[in-house]
Amino acid sequence: MLRLGGAEERLLRQYPDLPMDLKQCPTCSGKEHFRWKGPDGQPADFECDCIGQVMMNRWFLHCGIDLSYQRLGWDDLTGTDEGAQEECLAYAANVVENVAAGQGMIPWRADTGPG
Ligand SMILES: [Zn+2]
Repeated sequence: MLRLGGAEERLLRQYPDLPMDLKQCPTCSGKEHFRWKGPDGQPADFECDCIGQVMMNRWFLHCGIDLSYQRLGWDDLTGTDEGAQEECLAYAANVVENVAAGQGMIPWRADTGPG
């Protein structure tokens, strides 16, 4: 059984289907391989790091990011203001310093809000 410290009880209450072993890997369902978009944009087969996927799933859920949003990458980003991706990357590159300084980041637009 996998554990995520003291936050686990809260996660289990909020997500009763939280994977509790590697056979419930959210990416491959225990098959140890999965099909996803390859570097050339075409479907490709990958070995699954099930431990990493289960732990990352828990960490994202702990941070309030549901599974559907965990699957998004920069290629899925559309309709953003020019420079938004660079600002996000710059914030993420210095996240430790930004958090220590009490600075968070909320992507937001006047017409769509945070969505
Ligand atoms: Zn897996």
